[in-house]
Amino acid sequence: MKFLILLPLYYTAACLTIPFVTALFIPHAKEISPPPQKNIENTITVFNHTDNTTYNINIEDYLIGVVAAEMPAAFEPEALKAQAVAARTYTMYKSASSDHDADICTDYTHCQAYLSEEEMHENWKNDYNFYFDKIKNAVYSTSGEYLSYNEEPIMAVFHSMGGGQTQNSADVWGTQMPYLVSVPSPGEEEATNYHSTLSVSFSEFKNTILKDYPNAKIASCLDVSKPTLTQSGHVKSILIGTVSIPGSKIRSMFNLRSTKFTLSFTDDTVTFSVTGYGHGVGMSQYGANAMAKTGKTYKEILSHYYQGVTFSE
Ligand SMILES: [Zn+2]
Repeated sequence: MKFLILLPLYYTAACLTIPFVTALFIPHAKEISPPPQKNIENTITVFNHTDNTTYNINIEDYLIGVVAAEMPAAFEPEALKAQAVAARTYTMYKSASSDHDADICTDYTHCQAYLSEEEMHENWKNDYNFYFDKIKNAVYSTSGEYLSYNEEPIMAVFHSMGGGQTQNSADVWGTQMPYLVSVPSPGEEEATNYHSTLSVSFSEFKNTILKDYPNAKIASCLDVSKPTLTQSGHVKSILIGTVSIPGSKIRSMFNLRSTKFTLSFTDDTVTFSVTGYGHGVGMSQYGANAMAKTGKTYKEILSHYYQGVTFSE
């Protein structure tokens, strides 16, 4: 309820600043259309998982909060537009297959992350007006656009960085979506923490695995086989003793940034060298930003990361 009460104030502030900011920072920007009028079709119900409340909100205004939460506001405008369309599509997809009463929730592990206006203020401080208008422009200038396959909204999943190559959905979740296929994702290496490492002692490595796989039988590094890789070079599984452990399970057990990793053993230390961040399926956000920097449009970005899809409105 607090959100709904505050919302008109933010609208007023945003509306007042848009012409000024647009003139300053977005030369030749397409005129921003006013948000669609509220009606049953463009109003959605959102479950806020932090306070267990459900509220109605215009989908375009909801998407400003999603893009703000899911992608750095400093990213290129075309990357933000790609994110807006992906998030709108994912919202529609989730709404159609919702397993909770609301259309979508704010838990990023279940649906999509979301920032309230107060949280955006906290994040951006003095840059609030600039970033808010930049994201609002990305959402409104693509208003109503979504991606479809066989006339249905697609499962437009996204991740931070795929490690140079995105993953086939089948290699991560077991089901192959025709549009979630492995594609190159160049340019991500400019991101901070594109490469990361984690070192643990051999006993910690062993105990962590034995906790979930008590039959793994691991006495030394000789019991750890070379990983089996997916088409994109992510770890599909590792045979430890006689037990095959999925790469995704290793990732969660050791809190690795992705399943694209190598293992090395020295003395009493096990080191994971990790590339990328996230599950690696669908659009890579850093890859999208890299494409935008080379002049690609949001439609070219989305057509690359979601193969064979149609732009619908
Ligand atoms: Zn949810």
